[in-house]
Amino acid sequence: MDFNTKVIHGGQEPDPSTGAIMTPIYQTSTFAQSSPGIDKGYEYSRTANPTRTALENSLASIENGNYGLAFASGVAAIDAVLKMLNPGDEVISTNDLYGGTFRLFTKIFQKYGIKFHFVGMGKPDKIKEFINKHTKMIWVETPTNPMLNIIDIEKVSEIAKNHDSLLIVDNTFATPYLQNPLDLGADIVMHSATKYLGGHSDLVAGALVVKNKNLADELYFIQNSTGAICGPMDSFLVLRGIKTLHLRMQRHCENGRAIAEFLSSHPKVDNVYWPGFKTHPNHNIAVKQMKNFGGMVSFTLKDNNYKKAVKVLENLRIFTLAESLGGVESLSGHPASMSHGAIPKKEREKIGIIDSLIRLSVGVESKKDLIKDLEKALKLI
Ligand SMILES: *Cc1c(COP(=O)(O)O)cnc(C)c1O
Repeated sequence: MDFNTKVIHGGQEPDPSTGAIMTPIYQTSTFAQSSPGIDKGYEYSRTANPTRTALENSLASIENGNYGLAFASGVAAIDAVLKMLNPGDEVISTNDLYGGTFRLFTKIFQKYGIKFHFVGMGKPDKIKEFINKHTKMIWVETPTNPMLNIIDIEKVSEIAKNHDSLLIVDNTFATPYLQNPLDLGADIVMHSATKYLGGHSDLVAGALVVKNKNLADELYFIQNSTGAICGPMDSFLVLRGIKTLHLRMQRHCENGRAIAEFLSSHPKVDNVYWPGFKTHPNHNIAVKQMKNFGGMVSFTLKDNNYKKAVKVLENLRIFTLAESLGGVESLSGHPASMSHGAIPKKEREKIGIIDSLIRLSVGVESKKDLIKDLEKALKLI
């Protein structure tokens, strides 16, 4: 089945009790048993709920996996993966990581005796310097946030396999429309479904997808034991979002390209970070592992001035200044003061997060209007 069919039909059956085409919202905590232990496949909604099951089957289908798990948030999904580890185990992770993932690693799991190494993975061989007998996981985000670096998933997966380590890919920015990490050798693919999968900025949810049965069993056990599940209403909304993922992503990519090209020719703009440019350091890897380049674009101003960046952001009218990304509406963000504000200036500047860096989540509006909006705001500085 092609991706465009899978987003609508993958893992989906009309509701067995009524024939409803769209999976109903099973807003129930428990299910009747005809005799002790005899049920219709569901007993309690933390363990399994039919709306969540439909979403989990859809997730498995669109990521080319065999098993999907839906969580209350993206960080809840990450939390479940990390709970497979024991004290003394080590994780090697991308260095320009989503801020919430970095916080979960360093402020929560570090105190339970898990050690993290944060490594620039633009050249995957760098990972080998940190591998030892305690290494259990390699954690990759690509494209990265907010610098849009690209990491070679296939290369990293070879390294992980040679050292009996699991490879986890946070596929939130790319979505399964652009990239399928399980096909490139990853063991677990993770999503903040809050972003492109949900796609309408109206929910918070997370996802994991795997191919391997033992890995799935271990993660289901953790999900059921710790309980950070996706509720029936949110499961329904993510499912509904997924049905238009291919249409939205097509437009996100088209608009992302138009905005990146506009910005790169603007006299007040310095660097534009977008993996579609031939000058992007890992453009060739993006071409190899992604179908297109996505809707995330970051840029800096020629005059690297905090106040000027703020002025641009305050004067955008269609791009709304807000956390998050991946919705139909365009959003703008200022990493140095928002998502990466907690990182010391020196540290964040080392990876390129300077004061004038602006991150755009380009939505699916008219690209002409989006460009006009940027043009007007840039004129004021
Ligand atoms: C938002 C995000 C997360 C965290 O997901 P939540 O749904 O906010 O808990 C993890 N990774 C990336 C890349 C994200 O953008």
